[in-house]
Amino acid sequence: MRFTIIGLLLAAPTVIAAIALIFVGGLPSLAGAGIILFVTAAALVILRLIYRDTNRLVHYADALGEAKKPVATPLFDSISAIAIAGALARSHQQWLDRDGADAGRAAAAEAVLETLHDPLILLSGERDVLRANQAARALFGERMVGRDLAGSVRNPTLLEAVDAVLGGGASRTVEILLPVPVERTLQARVKPFQPLGSNGPRQVLLTLHDITLLKRSEQMRADFVANASHELRTPLAALIGFIETLRGPAKDDRDAHERFLGIMFDQSNRMSRLVNDLLSLSRIEMDEHTPPTTEVDVAKIVRNLTATLELRAAARKVKLRIEGPPALPPVIGDEDQLSQVFQNLIDNAIKYGKEQTEVTVNLSINDPNNAGTGMGSNAALAGRITRGPAICVAVTDRGEGIARTHLPRLTERFYRVDPARSRALGGTGLGLAIVKHIVNRHRGRLIIDSEVGKGSTFTVLLPAVKVSAEGDVKKAG
Ligand code: ADP
Repeated sequence: MRFTIIGLLLAAPTVIAAIALIFVGGLPSLAGAGIILFVTAAALVILRLIYRDTNRLVHYADALGEAKKPVATPLFDSISAIAIAGALARSHQQWLDRDGADAGRAAAAEAVLETLHDPLILLSGERDVLRANQAARALFGERMVGRDLAGSVRNPTLLEAVDAVLGGGASRTVEILLPVPVERTLQARVKPFQPLGSNGPRQVLLTLHDITLLKRSEQMRADFVANASHELRTPLAALIGFIETLRGPAKDDRDAHERFLGIMFDQSNRMSRLVNDLLSLSRIEMDEHTPPTTEVDVAKIVRNLTATLELRAAARKVKLRIEGPPALPPVIGDEDQLSQVFQNLIDNAIKYGKEQTEVTVNLSINDPNNAGTGMGSNAALAGRITRGPAICVAVTDRGEGIARTHLPRLTERFYRVDPARSRALGGTGLGLAIVKHIVNRHRGRLIIDSEVGKGSTFTVLLPAVKVSAEGDVKKAG
């Protein structure tokens, strides 16, 4: 091809020379030969220049094709070669820019996939793991890529779903249980995937989402409804039974009337307490995320309460004693709710404490930054609340105490160490759950210490309001 062009280029001066001969008289002459010589020489020079530029352009274009960065433009003899090289350089730069942008986009997409919280796995038509993001590798092991999914995930439900989609089936969602290292429930979405522009075998995109918490809260809700209905059904069944007896066999029995009405009154009270506690709990849960705004005096609340609980304590021959300084810094709180917290704790201490013992309510201020000083301070407790000084109310009884295994579950709704005893004492099983939610709303802490055979201490820590030298108040911590 190159020789054809050269041939054509050499023919051109010969034609010109022939025309020149015709102009100088039609016959070969010295002048004609001179013109031929000159024109041929000029054509050869031009041809050489063109050939050299073409060669350089070809090398330059080849270099640009391989270069990932701009390439220095070589020197050219002809203006047209310079123009072509300029155009090549411009389009190479555009290609570099586009390539850079594509690489940036691909890296960003890769980073997004890698940092996705949920595991994401791409499977080949043979079920081999083509790609797995970091969450997937953390869950199923770093070595999962390049191997059959069954090598790292041994869940038959999931493998069946993947096989079904690989076999042409529609997308599907399955729930799988991973027993180790901690039991978790995952929702797996299995979708067919065809890479862009490929008509190869069908691939599968697998995404997993941890729904353990959702499942747990669903279960808790179901348990709660079951427990609440059970708690209500028992006194209700007793009421219906006694009403039937009073209308039937015991219609004219005056003694039975007295006795049965007494029981019915107790059962109705039990139902009423339960309904009140359920309502309190749902109200407290609703505003748990809205912290209170008013300043309250915890010492005053506790003193007022103990006065009203004296009677109840006396009935069980329990002595109520308040310890601590006469005044404490205020806390930001809801007076009614805090009153409910201390009422439930003191009430429990009276209920579960032994007869003829003492229940003490110790008030103090604990400052982790100043542990070992201050009013009734306790370094161990001070370290248990995160930052700043805290008002500390500790209710101690000399009851039977609570075994260690029960402690973590005591604040669960309807959890009781001894259900029969709690019911006999008028308990609803909701008191400590209410305490926990109110304390949470106040950004405080509830600490339970107990020793079987000796008694228990329920301590509430509430962030104290700091009073500055100028007299301004601000919440501590
Ligand atoms: P209840 O209405 O049954 O008292 P709570 O939520 O107040 O419900 O308490 C839950 C359980 O914690 C009680 O049933 C009881 O077993 C145990 N408990 C609470 N306070 C004490 C305490 N001071 N001493 C011993 N056990 C307690």
